[in-house]
Parts: sequence; C-alpha cells; structure tokens
Amino acid sequence: MTEIDTSKPHPARMYDWYLGGKDNYPVDEAMGKQMLALDPRVPVMARVNRAFMHRSTRWLAQQGVRQFLDIGTGIPTEPNLHQVAQRIAPDARVVYCDNDPIVLAHAAALLRGTEEGATEYLQADVRDPGAIVEGARKVLDFSRPVALSLIALLHFVSDEDGAHELVRRLLSELPSGSYLVLTHATADFTPEESKAATEKLKAAGVTLTLRAREGFTRFFEGLELVPPGVQVPHQWHPDLGEPVPGQDDGVIPGYGAVGRKP
Ligand code: SAH
Repeated sequence: MTEIDTSKPHPARMYDWYLGGKDNYPVDEAMGKQMLALDPRVPVMARVNRAFMHRSTRWLAQQGVRQFLDIGTGIPTEPNLHQVAQRIAPDARVVYCDNDPIVLAHAAALLRGTEEGATEYLQADVRDPGAIVEGARKVLDFSRPVALSLIALLHFVSDEDGAHELVRRLLSELPSGSYLVLTHATADFTPEESKAATEKLKAAGVTLTLRAREGFTRFFEGLELVPPGVQVPHQWHPDLGEPVPGQDDGVIPGYGAVGRKP
C-alpha cells in the first residue's frame, strides 16, 4: 500500500501537476497534458476548486466550527485546510485522510499546525468509513459538530462502490450542527469534452464518475443547504476570497455546496 506506482497516472499527482506542484511523475504530466489538450482550462479548474476549499473552510470557522474531517485531501498545497482554519481559529482540530501513498509520503506538511489545535493524517480509503471514523475519533470529539469535507473526491467513487451511502454513513456518525462540504466534477456543461476525458482516464486506469446536478444534490439529502445552495464552485460565497484568474461561469464544469445537519 505504501509503494508509489509510477507506471500509471494517479489523480492526486495529476492534480498536483495542474497546480504547478513538484510531487508528480512523467506519467502524471503526460496524462495531464492530454487533459489540457481536451480543455486548456483544467489548471484553472484546479485552482478554482482549491479556492472553494479556502472559502468554505473560512466560512465554517467563522460559524464556530472547530473540528474538520477532510477525506481525499490530496498532496499538501499551501495553504492547506488546517492553515486556513487555524488562521481564524488557532484551536481548530483537523483530521486528513487519503488513500494514495504519495499523500502519506508528504503528510508531514499536513501536521505542522498551531500548538492550541491538532492535526492528524489517516491513510485510509473513503470506501472504508468504519476505519476513518475509528481513526478520527482519536482526535475529534464526535459529540460536537464536525465539518466533513470530500472536496473533488466523490467523482472517483462509483455508484457501485456506494458513493451516496458512504457519505450518509459518515454523516450518521456526526451530531446535529455538523456540515458536509463537497465539490464534484460534472458533464452537465461540457458533455463532449467530459466524455472524452473520462474515456482517456479510464484507458489509463482512472475511473471517473461524473454526476449531474441531481446526483450531486442527492448527497445533501436530509441536510439544510447553506445559501447560495448548489453552485458552480466559484459562485459559492465569492465574497470570502480572491477570484482565480481565468475563472468564469461557463468554464468550470463542477458543483460545490455546503449543507448543515439539522
Ligand atoms: N481535496 C483536495 C484534493 C482533490 S484530488 C482538493 O480539492 O484540493 C482527489 C484526491 O482524492 C486525491 O488525493 C486522491 O488520492 C484521493 N482519493 C481518490 N480516491 C480515494 C479513495 N477511494 N479514498 C480516499 N481518497 C481518495
């Protein structure tokens, strides 16, 4: 599990390449370039997604949330979620989780937080929610609200693997006043490019499940959607951060939203 496979592209490393990071391999760059050939705005999408994480984390910390469980964290990229949260709330406690060994290899950067707060990294798969909850409990108090974030993760989890059920299972462990934070890729805006990208990735061993607005919204069943509801990610509280150069409405084929558990 801890071996880094450089023979095929990995989502975490491709994403790192889009963001201009150094923790990727020639296979990731080659596949990243194929994605760019289909849609040159992919790096903007990655930045817009990251910016959504910054704004939603800031918003949650401003609401008084002090505990965060972030699944599908990715390779550390500054600022990381705990840095955004702890800038507002130094006592914030953050548990990160990813299943890619490259994230584990760089996890030290996720563990440098404030003295008042806490950060932890779990190597685990979202398809094993029991292990995640067990690990997270060592750092988080599950009787107090937790912000559960799966940002740009669920399009890597198929319906056969029970994406919606997994989210429901994780939420069932959290008390009232907890939040769910998601972004997700969709083919709703760019059906042809999305189909071509999905096929190319599949051929390279990466399965993508793009979901339509309805399928995305269904993750929030039983929760209260925080205004402005389901949006393209940069339209979710744009007031809380700086715009990303190149972002605009037509171009970011994804959804973002935050819901509160009543
Ligand atoms: N959340 C970060 C990174 C998104 S990239 C951000 O938005 O900036 C998606 C991440 O999900 C990658 O790091 C990948 O390794 C991770 N991932 C994919 N499938 C996973 C699974 N089944 N369990 C846990 N993590 C997974």
